Amino acid sequence: MTAIRTRIAPSPTGDPHLGTAYIALFNLAFARQHGGEFILRIEDTDQERSTPESEKAILDSLRWLGIEWSEGPDVGGPHGPYRQSERGSIYKDYADQLVNNGHAFYCFATSEELNDLRRHQTENKLPIGYDGRGLALSPTQVQQHLDDGIPHVVRMKIPREGMCVFQDMLRGSIEIEWAQVDMQVLLKADGMPTYHLANVVDDHLMGITHVLRGEEWINSAPKHQLLYQYFGWDMPELCHLPLLRNPDKSKLSKRKNPTSIMYYQRMGYLPEALLNYLGRMGWSMPDEREKFSLAEMVANFDVNRVSLGGPIFDQDKLSWLNGLWIRENLNDAEFIQRMQTWAINNNFLAPIVPLIKPRVDKFSDVLPLAGFFLSGMLDLTQDELANKKLEPEQVRKALQFTLWRLEALRHWQKDDIFAICKGMAETLEIKPKDLFATLFVVITGTANSVSVFDAMQILGPDMSRARIRHAVDLLGGVSKKEAKRWDKEYQAL
Ligand code: GLU
Repeated sequence: MTAIRTRIAPSPTGDPHLGTAYIALFNLAFARQHGGEFILRIEDTDQERSTPESEKAILDSLRWLGIEWSEGPDVGGPHGPYRQSERGSIYKDYADQLVNNGHAFYCFATSEELNDLRRHQTENKLPIGYDGRGLALSPTQVQQHLDDGIPHVVRMKIPREGMCVFQDMLRGSIEIEWAQVDMQVLLKADGMPTYHLANVVDDHLMGITHVLRGEEWINSAPKHQLLYQYFGWDMPELCHLPLLRNPDKSKLSKRKNPTSIMYYQRMGYLPEALLNYLGRMGWSMPDEREKFSLAEMVANFDVNRVSLGGPIFDQDKLSWLNGLWIRENLNDAEFIQRMQTWAINNNFLAPIVPLIKPRVDKFSDVLPLAGFFLSGMLDLTQDELANKKLEPEQVRKALQFTLWRLEALRHWQKDDIFAICKGMAETLEIKPKDLFATLFVVITGTANSVSVFDAMQILGPDMSRARIRHAVDLLGGVSKKEAKRWDKEYQAL
């Protein structure tokens, strides 16, 4: 029997997500349980959105959690490079192979043409999707277009009728009508592969035997299965894990819940407790015990024990479990040492000191000034949030709108944070300094503190947003109906 090899294949396009850690954990546990290997590959073919900072944050966060890979961009291995952007012309060669074998074709349609097509389909209530126009070109026309240097993509052929049937380790046979599957672009006009081509080629070349991934990829499976057939390769076993959910059952999203692993690190959760909690997402130990280590999980792992009901990521439950780990597993000396690793250290304090030093006369001033950097949600009252110039309703709305803007901010830098907050105040026709007055309290806990924008940069996006969300809740929250109304208003700004 071939050795089991699993992988995590994150795209470095944002903060390291809890979902990535959860999927990584299950792949790791599955591989180790079977004496196999778990590897890490970076899927950065989306050059516009991928950043080295995000890649570093993902690797650092997974390592912090105790997840280790035996091959990857940082540790190397026999199947490298493990970063798709460094894999040269591999994908183009495979795309050419598919074209030559008649499994894929060139498409010269411009984006205007495709937009017109979509508009026509929408207006006439037709199914939305590519209509196969590239296939209608004769070989001579195709050659002529290529000779003329007309930009083109490569698309895969998809049967127009019948049913695609594939197997999922948890769900058994899954059927999807071919008519629902688009003639996927495999190679973009710039020669870069899309996720589908790169993912299949690399899983094959890296000897991956089992793909455990989030259920949002189920709809990609028909394309992948067909690509494996076109290439004549065995397909890895597929296992689509249930998505993590917010306590209200909606898909875990940063709009409702901090989703970045770095937030949980900053909050002072122990990595082993967070990993333990992620292991409880849809899975349980044979004896149902809640607290277990990674080694215990690996020893007892059985993917068939994964339940498909959407697992709920509940911070209160996590805090309870974390408390058990702190109290039962750390003696006092370890407690001190782990607190130091967490925040009482040079790295953590270095950016804070320049902010507080100008206000410090003696060291006993430090904690009252800087305590909010080490806190989670601040203990604020409605009175403390009261604004001298603005009505509570205005404040609530301004905070919520600012929060939405901040959710879309990619680079968490103080100048950009400032620009967003100022811009939002102006858009809502309130004085920026009036909005800032409340933001000070929301973020730092007092009206007179260090620069709130510096503080937000240091606290990071998730902690800053969580505090704003907490303040909006303190001011009465946003009902579903109101959220809808405000969202409309917000989109129109
Ligand atoms: N790059 C994909 C992601 O960002 C990988 C999906 C898969 O595991 O196939 O999650």
